[in-house]
Amino acid sequence: METNFKIDLKGMNTTDLENFFLRMNEKSFRSKQMIKWIYQKGSSNFDEMTDFSKVLKMRLKKTAHISALKTLRHIISDNRDTEKFLFELNDGNLIESVVMSYEDHVGPSRLTACISSQVGCAMNCSFCATGKSGFIRNLTAGEIVDQVIQMQKSVSQSERRIANVVLMGMGEPLLNYDNVLKAIRILNIPEGTAIGLRHIAISTCGIIPGIERISDEGLQIKLAVSLHSPFDKVRSSIMPINNKYPLAYLMASLKNYQLKTGRRITFEYAMIDGINDDLESASELAKILKGFTALINLIPLNSVAEAKANRSPNHKIEAFQKFMQSKGIRTTIRKERGTDIEAACGQLRKKTMGKTYE
Ligand code: SAH
Repeated sequence: METNFKIDLKGMNTTDLENFFLRMNEKSFRSKQMIKWIYQKGSSNFDEMTDFSKVLKMRLKKTAHISALKTLRHIISDNRDTEKFLFELNDGNLIESVVMSYEDHVGPSRLTACISSQVGCAMNCSFCATGKSGFIRNLTAGEIVDQVIQMQKSVSQSERRIANVVLMGMGEPLLNYDNVLKAIRILNIPEGTAIGLRHIAISTCGIIPGIERISDEGLQIKLAVSLHSPFDKVRSSIMPINNKYPLAYLMASLKNYQLKTGRRITFEYAMIDGINDDLESASELAKILKGFTALINLIPLNSVAEAKANRSPNHKIEAFQKFMQSKGIRTTIRKERGTDIEAACGQLRKKTMGKTYE
């Protein structure tokens, strides 16, 4: 196909585009114009770019293209607060992403996009659907950013702006570090999607080298860590990565992160019946979080067909929350959403190439 030999502008940042235009003997301010078209307006068509001359448009068409994820499915939950997208990548791989709207008392609320960083995942957490069929590849910066752009274009309430992004979809963001960081910086460009760094969160299962690197980036982004148990034995049994990066080392690296950045850390804790929802776990959790500025987000486990684990009953989740609060630790319970369209945490799964999606 002809486009294979053309340069893809999606995924380029301001400097990349400046260099691209300079190589074409064009002024570098074209970069900002192009950023607006690609990232703010979501355009993939040079003909739409009214502030470029006919000649420039022709030259652009000859050398470059702007890739776009193909939306294969767009499913809206019954109560309309969650929408799931199935995207096809250029190589035929498939990923899923989600948009959520939150009620707001002061008018139409903003939207939150939950996006993927990899096709599949190598972490194989026992309770998560994404890991069940393994890891395929990292997403490019362009593919990460494009999930936000395409969802903004076709979300049912498109007059509402995606103002928050969480990297909590498929994959482990800190194992695709460079592309994820590049994508975050692109999402933040004022002429583009202009998403505030404070409104972007990375969620990790606890990749220590990635946590160390991110401590030194000087970025105001949020960090969320999937903890799920304060005991190595339990954590290793549900999250194999804990064998490589056990709790003592993980918590030490997070302490350093907090010392360097001064930022609060969110700890995600999926409530799994009989596994990690007892008060002994709560008590140990309070101990290992001593000295941290932390928020605990309890996630009622979402059902995944292959996992033999069950969601904790509400009374146990509430008792756990009460206990943590009695220790002075802010603890919230995540509202369940999107379960009817399999768009809840841990339910996004890799679809096999070439197979029909049902
Ligand atoms: N790899 C990253 C981000 C993707 S998972 C990470 O591990 O943090 C996003 C969050 O959903 C994580 O906290 C993950 O542990 C949680 N999760 C996965 N499966 C789940 C399930 N079945 N029910 C509830 N939460 C789940």
